[in-house]
Amino acid sequence: MKWKVLINTSKSKCIHFRPSRQTRSNYKFNLGLEEIDTVESYKYLGVIFQEHCKFDNTANTLSTVARRAFGSVISKLYILKEFGFKTFMKLYEACVVPITDYGAAIWGYKSHNSLEMIENRAMRFLLGDHRFTSLLGMSGDSGSIPCTQRRRIKMFQLWNRLLSLDDDRLTKKVFENDFCCATSNKNWCADMKVLFEKLNLSDYYTNKLSININVVKSKMWTYVAESWHVKLSNSPKLRTYAVFKNEFKTENYLVFNLPRNERSILAQFRCGVLPLRVETGRFIGEKLEDRTCQMCAHNCIEDEKHFILSCSLYSDLRQYWFNEATSDLQSSQMQDNDRLIYLMNNLPRRCAKFLTRAFLRPRNKLFN
Ligand SMILES: [Zn+2]
Repeated sequence: MKWKVLINTSKSKCIHFRPSRQTRSNYKFNLGLEEIDTVESYKYLGVIFQEHCKFDNTANTLSTVARRAFGSVISKLYILKEFGFKTFMKLYEACVVPITDYGAAIWGYKSHNSLEMIENRAMRFLLGDHRFTSLLGMSGDSGSIPCTQRRRIKMFQLWNRLLSLDDDRLTKKVFENDFCCATSNKNWCADMKVLFEKLNLSDYYTNKLSININVVKSKMWTYVAESWHVKLSNSPKLRTYAVFKNEFKTENYLVFNLPRNERSILAQFRCGVLPLRVETGRFIGEKLEDRTCQMCAHNCIEDEKHFILSCSLYSDLRQYWFNEATSDLQSSQMQDNDRLIYLMNNLPRRCAKFLTRAFLRPRNKLFN
């Protein structure tokens, strides 16, 4: 043997990588006199390679470990009681993301439910939302790139690295071969081709050029924000949210480090899941016009706008939190939508204070 290497035949396995519709080859491989077992999957450096070129097992294994790591982050935060957005993100990115994104440059193209669930759970925990909250609303408020897109950025980093390798490296040879077959086969380079096209960067792929990762990040951001806008315009449940939220970015109320309960109530209010009658009535099958506010004599639907702008049960709180700062808010010139936009975007801290106090006010005070 050229390199005089001793190979442990019991640890060496053989995989026939192929599309799922193709049957496995009967060809037998030998190392010396010993036959090598053919297996369905093989774990190499923590990544599980499956015979049909899927990475579900890798994602599921990583998600189990990441769930545990996230549990440990949560238990530490419970001790702190109050924590800010930046602290949370720092902990999440340091303790959980390295696990969920392990080796993602290889397998990160597809989204995996088990890993997305961890990301969603983290977002719910941060915003203090419950499980019925729209993911679209939560991702809009957190303004962070979804985990699948984050993993795809790692693929671009690997692309750059592969291009910089010497031509005699085995990895480079595999890459070149992959690149040649990418038009007819479904392989890593074919996935990269789609990614470059999605970001309008096809030239980099065709000419095999390395790319500045900041350009990728900024293009990815634009792509995410645009698809977020499209989804928002098609989401009837987030009608009110769409009135005041028109930019995909981290909301101020998260960065302000509000107390946890205030952040939670404001987030629920924004995403339209605060248990107002417009929402609770839906669960018991009430008609929309019957879901009127029972706390005041206005006889109108108890929705977000009524709650924050006009319900007379909270007039004193409204006066206290909004009046002095917003004389123009009270003027009859402003429409309800404009007033809501003004409050949500300019006075998030006051909104959180008002909503928390209003919502925690005994709501058994039925008007009669
Ligand atoms: Zn009312």
